[in-house]
Amino acid sequence: MLAIEGQGVCSICNRREVTGYSYGVLCCSACKMFFRRSLFMRNVHPCRTGGNCVRKCRFCRFKRCIEAGMTFTPTENLSDISNIDSLSALLFNLAHQESHREFQVMNCLFVGDPTVAEIAEESGPLRLTPRPLNHPMNLAEWTFITGISSLNYLKKFSHATNLNQSDRSNLLKYSFFDFSIFTDAMRAQYRNQEYISFPDGSDVVRTGFVGVSDQFLNSLRCRLVARINDLRVTKEEFLLLSLVFFCNPGLRNISESGRGILNSYQKIYSSALLQYCMMTYNRNGPSRFTDLLSLYNVIVKTKLDISYVFLLSSIQNPCADLKKIYVFR
Ligand SMILES: [Zn+2]
Ligand SMILES: [Zn+2]
Repeated sequence: MLAIEGQGVCSICNRREVTGYSYGVLCCSACKMFFRRSLFMRNVHPCRTGGNCVRKCRFCRFKRCIEAGMTFTPTENLSDISNIDSLSALLFNLAHQESHREFQVMNCLFVGDPTVAEIAEESGPLRLTPRPLNHPMNLAEWTFITGISSLNYLKKFSHATNLNQSDRSNLLKYSFFDFSIFTDAMRAQYRNQEYISFPDGSDVVRTGFVGVSDQFLNSLRCRLVARINDLRVTKEEFLLLSLVFFCNPGLRNISESGRGILNSYQKIYSSALLQYCMMTYNRNGPSRFTDLLSLYNVIVKTKLDISYVFLLSSIQNPCADLKKIYVFR
């Protein structure tokens, strides 16, 4: 841990002096220990006052840790992740990160229009604001809040924070859209729906312009959900797969040292997933692992189809407001 004196008061407890970076956030040593204990004991029971007793109960304190951007990544020592406590702590952490992401999609707004490079440069999580209940959500707004929440989720893991600025920017740029599609498809599965859509049920692509058949649009909406339903992908599998898929050393424009970092983290995440499959499916674990990995190609195919529709619709409606995170040049 990097010791940093005189950095002020810990943003989680608002009481003690900051002692350094822990789990990706500047905090005091008590909050660092609290976060670790919570992950490994998994004893965070819901708040009795519905989350209004800031810093008094464990739940509210843990929630503040997650909101501040704290996250747990197993060490680069591969034997650590074969430890069942470590895997459970990782899954517990991921479940909380994921519900925070989904909360932001459902309830927040982001004011501004940053590029992915600017988001990658900012240390700590992006600041989102509560969305008024009557705020009208259209395709552009859903696309934007989904993308921003995905970027916020993906940027905090150690494999991203350990990269240099340019590698981090490229990692996020070429993975957040795919990750967003994966989250949309998982939401469809939780809702017993056969196609991807935004949370209010609206369509993920603009329709009604020339050049795209209904058949194409339908397979774009259904292909990934169908595969996820076939496999009955669990939430834990989705969480671990997301780390394996989107910690990808093969992305464009990543430096050699960046590829090295991503490679070593991807190995950790893959062994966590394999370990999970072996525990859950016993001798069918290895084939389950292979089946799950095959989802990646379906995600990429869906992304390409959506990008194609994006492109066609932006040619035919050039004034449509495209946010900078969706400019992939
Ligand atoms: Zn503290
Ligand atoms: Zn509370």
